[in-house]
Amino acid sequence: MVMVVEDGESSPSSRLLAADAAAEAHHHHHDSSKLNLSSTLSLEVIGASLIVTDGRRSKKQARESCVSALCGTSAPATLEIRLYNLLFAEVLEGKLAITYAEHTSKTAVRPVTREYPVGEAVDRVVLKGWVEKVMVKAYSDAIPKQRIKVLLNPHGGRGTANKLWQAECEPLFRAARCTFDVESTTHHKHAIEIAEHLDIAKYDTVACVSGDGLPHEVFNGLGRRSDAATALRKIAVCQLPGGSGNGMCWSLTGTDSASLASLAYIKGRRTPIDLASVTSGEQRILSVLSQSYGIIAESDLGTDHLRWMGGQRFTWGILSRIFSKTAYPCDLALKVEIEDKAEIREYVRRGGDGGDDLRDASISISTEAPGDGGGGLPKLKHGTVNDELPVGWELIPYRTLGNFWAGNMTRMSADAIFFPAALPCEGQQDLVTVDANTPRATALKMMIACETGSHFDLNCLTYRKVSAYRLIPHSRKGGGYISIDGEPLEFGPFQVESHRGLGTTLSKDGRFTGMLV
Ligand code: ADP
Ligand code: MG
Repeated sequence: MVMVVEDGESSPSSRLLAADAAAEAHHHHHDSSKLNLSSTLSLEVIGASLIVTDGRRSKKQARESCVSALCGTSAPATLEIRLYNLLFAEVLEGKLAITYAEHTSKTAVRPVTREYPVGEAVDRVVLKGWVEKVMVKAYSDAIPKQRIKVLLNPHGGRGTANKLWQAECEPLFRAARCTFDVESTTHHKHAIEIAEHLDIAKYDTVACVSGDGLPHEVFNGLGRRSDAATALRKIAVCQLPGGSGNGMCWSLTGTDSASLASLAYIKGRRTPIDLASVTSGEQRILSVLSQSYGIIAESDLGTDHLRWMGGQRFTWGILSRIFSKTAYPCDLALKVEIEDKAEIREYVRRGGDGGDDLRDASISISTEAPGDGGGGLPKLKHGTVNDELPVGWELIPYRTLGNFWAGNMTRMSADAIFFPAALPCEGQQDLVTVDANTPRATALKMMIACETGSHFDLNCLTYRKVSAYRLIPHSRKGGGYISIDGEPLEFGPFQVESHRGLGTTLSKDGRFTGMLV
């Protein structure tokens, strides 16, 4: 089929192109994944990639091929852009601009824009439709042009949040046409105030360039509002690696590269995530990552003077305490949901108990009754730490406890995987206890195994899934540190209960990275 091109000026190539386009429209009426911009330039979505086939020759190439004319025409250059890396596509002044995140190394990306001239004969309606279709494919589960509140913690980690944001994150968010405003926190708990008074209609996401402390504060700020449940569902809270422990970033994106994590959030899937209420004294605090007492709490909170070490300060803290074999006596009452490691493994392999629909943020989760007048948080099913011990709970003395750690996420810092069986939305936490009398060599072996998550099967670790618990510490020895998401809790009894999918975050595919299976 040959189309007559009315335009007398049109070149043979554009006439060919028009014929191509017509043939395309005729034969593949429903498949417009290939776009011909000229006879030598086309773009096509194949599988998970956008392939640019560029047969245009530069003057230099043309000259060279003249010399070696016998070699025939050179093969067209192809460029493969993964749809995951594709940030934006648009038509501007007769050019198709494709912006994508290009790898500069294995652990970094930067935005690059390539412009392709659009021939006169290209049907503008077809072109517009193609661009829209490619954008939909590039953003499948994600919200394009996210509206982001960016919080920088100048005190996080080695204090590089601002630099990190400007050099590695901002260019990508800008290239993806996200809109954002940036605010640095000026004091401890500042992010609580910001989240409490945030105009939630204006934003999709709060991105914290910080350690785990700022996301913790943001969830708590949202939790203080009278519309807490709505705010916690509306606003996705995520962490860009600007701290010592970037556990949340590792768990959700599998990296602590600021640029790769930015890309992961630009393309992130809105994911409901469990939050746990911690009651202590008269307070109710939300925990997103973990609660710890013993070695880990002390290594986290008792090493602030070692901030210059970055993430290494945790390792140093843990090692020095393993060698001292310090015990942290306490009483513990657990509401156990899954007792046994084999059963936990089976449960994770099944994908938890709820199936994937529960992990889809587009389906609202309303397993929790709304609060009873005291703000917008769900009512506590088991009361507070000041109430009688709930019926059926039994306090068990742990006289030689070495470490207690309960967590909502897979990873704690750097690439230390502590809870390889954690799922984002399950209404329970993974809980580990280690006895202080564990032989030093075994404890060291355990630490090394944590790098790959293979410690799960070690006998020195007791591993359970619990939906609630109460811990009553007996001694302030070692400083009496209790850590909630890396923030200190006042020494004393505390009680914890999980809320299924109460918060929202962004993840790569609705799961954590670093899982068992
Ligand atoms: P890290 O991973 O190094 O612990 P975090 O982001 O977790 O970093 O933050 C640690 C603490 O810094 C949090 O308690 C937070 O409230 C506090 N903070 C935030 N902004 C400031 C500031 N401007 N000055 C001092 N502390 C701050
Ligand atoms: Mg912290």
